Order: sequence, then C-alpha cells, then structure tokens
Amino acid sequence: FDLRGNSYANNEKELDKQLRPLQFNDFRGQKQIVENLEIFVLAAKMRDESLDHVLLHGPPGLGKTTLSNIIANELGVGIKITSGPVLDKPGDLAGLLTNLEENDVLFIDEIHRLSPIVEEYLYSAMEDFRIDIMIDKGPSARSVQLELNPFTLIGATTRSGLLTSPLRARFGIKSHLEYYDADILTGIVKRSAGILKVEISDEAASEIAFRSRGTPRIVNSLLRRVRDFAQVKGNGKIDMAITRHALAALNIDKHGLDEMDNRILLAIIDKFKGGPVGITTIATAVGEDAGTIEEVYEPFLIKEGFIKRTPRGREVTDLAYKHLGKVKYGDSPG
Ligand code: ADP
Repeated sequence: FDLRGNSYANNEKELDKQLRPLQFNDFRGQKQIVENLEIFVLAAKMRDESLDHVLLHGPPGLGKTTLSNIIANELGVGIKITSGPVLDKPGDLAGLLTNLEENDVLFIDEIHRLSPIVEEYLYSAMEDFRIDIMIDKGPSARSVQLELNPFTLIGATTRSGLLTSPLRARFGIKSHLEYYDADILTGIVKRSAGILKVEISDEAASEIAFRSRGTPRIVNSLLRRVRDFAQVKGNGKIDMAITRHALAALNIDKHGLDEMDNRILLAIIDKFKGGPVGITTIATAVGEDAGTIEEVYEPFLIKEGFIKRTPRGREVTDLAYKHLGKVKYGDSPG
C-alpha cells in the first residue's frame, strides 16, 4: 500500500470519505485561508452570485479536494469533480459545463495537466460563462455559442509553476496550502480516531502526527494502520507501545520523511559535500523533476530544518547529518 494514498483499496476510499471534514468548522489548520474563504463564500451567498473562481495550490494530501467539497457544501450548491488528465477533449468539458446548475462548483484536480485546447475553451467559460462549440465536420462545420449557468471553477494543483499565466489570471481567489504543524495534525488524529471509534492516548496521537510528513492524508493512513496493529497485536486501544511497534514494523522514518526526502538529503551530503548546490543539479542526481522538488519536497525539508536556502544554492543542516547518521565533510569522525 502507499502512504501517500495514491492507490487505495475500495474500503480505504470509503474510510477516507468518512474522515473528510464537511464544513469549515471541521477543517483544521490553514487558518488564514479558511477565514478568507468563509468571507468570500458568505458574500457570494448574500449577493446570490457564484463565488469567484478559486485556485488551490500546494503539495498532495493537504486538503485541496476536501476544501473544495466544503466550499460547495457551504455555498449550498452541487459539485462536479474531474481532473486535468481525464478532460482530454473539449467535448467532455462542454458536457460538464452545460450540466452545471446555477452557481455550482466544477472541481478540476491536477489542473496543470489540462491539454492546451481544453484550457482555451475554459477561458471564455470562466470569463463570460459562455462557450463556442463546433458542430458538424467538413464544409458544414460551424460554431455555436452556448450560454452557461454562472459557476465557480475550483482548480487544484501541486505544481502551480506549470500553470500558464492566462489561466492563472482568471482565478480571482488563489490560496497556497502549507504543510501542517504537529499540534494541528495531532488534533486531526484525535478527530479521526473519534470517527473510527478507537481509543487513543495523547502521546500516541502526537507520535502519529509527528511521523506524518506534515500531511493530513498520511496522518489518516498511518492511524488506520496503527489501529490494525492495536486490534491484532494489542487490546484494540492505541497507546504509545503499540504505536511504536506499528511504526517500526511499517518502517516509518523517525521524522516522518519519505524515501525521496531521504534521497535528496543523501545526494546533497554524499555527492555535493553538503552543498550549496543548485536545484537542477539535485534533481538530476535523484532522478526527479526540479519543479516537483521545489514545490513538493523542499518546502517540507526547509520547514523541518533539514535544508537551508542560501544565495548559492541548497545546503543541508546539521540535523540532516544527524538524521542520516552521516559525518559532516571536514569534521573528523568520532
Ligand atoms: P489533496 O486534495 O490536497 O490531495 P485531500 O483533500 O484529498 O488532499 O485530503 C486528504 C485527506 O486528508 C482527506 O481525506 C481528509 O480526510 C484529510 N484532511 C485534509 N485536510 C484536512 C484538515 N485540514 N482537517 C482534517 N482532515 C483533513
């Protein structure tokens, strides 16, 4: 299974739905973003208008889909969900758009992966609630203009750097989701444990939070695995002992870093003497796209104090050496 939650079994998906907050009130953290969205939603409702288009960007698992559902819920409108790679023909987009009711939400996940043609169609839909579609082929082909109901497009992306500027410019509200602090994640663990009806100690909840890479999706996924251990190897309750046992059995890193995080730190230490080194050089060394490192991996490593940004590039910190059991270049071992 995959802790990042990329491929789920069906009942995991069901559980995920159960754990998903439905109202702004249940959504923890991202305080500024939520407070602003609450105001924009309220104002749109008071004017009986569609909410301005919203772009949510940030690493995977931080709550972009969840927030989009909450927005639709709080607006009291319907939501249609699709994603950039799925929407590959303008006809598919037209089908979705013409089926939206007044002020509905259209959620497009991975919006940076829209094809250029579909993106082009989206422009007039977003701006004037209108699309031109071509009917017929050959000599009798002609374009017809369709009026759409006013709607809100919510786009989610992990890679806002890949968005074209005309698309970005059409979003009136842009919010960047950040990795969560351990105390907020601890609150999420406790809330989820309550929904799953499993008893958990305060210590165990914060241990799970601490090992979850600042990410609610990983928190929920780890909690479910620890619950399995508690059920089979313990008395069903989640305490520190069973949590430690489960985290060791699952090979969860002591700071919650994932494989790519560790590869990045190791590459900087082993190949570049700890840095400073440029992002594209790191990317080549670990075989990952430079933009993904910059937008998905690096922010967490910087937040947790493993990497520093300097004018000459990225440098690992003493914490990174300690975490990986490495001796700093130039220091004598022992
Ligand atoms: P994204 O769309 O950014 O990849 P999701 O919205 O799918 O992330 O969130 C993943 C899971 O994490 C959701 O199922 C939800 O249960 C949980 N989650 C995300 N953000 C929060 C939050 N702020 N509070 C509580 N649970 C959250």
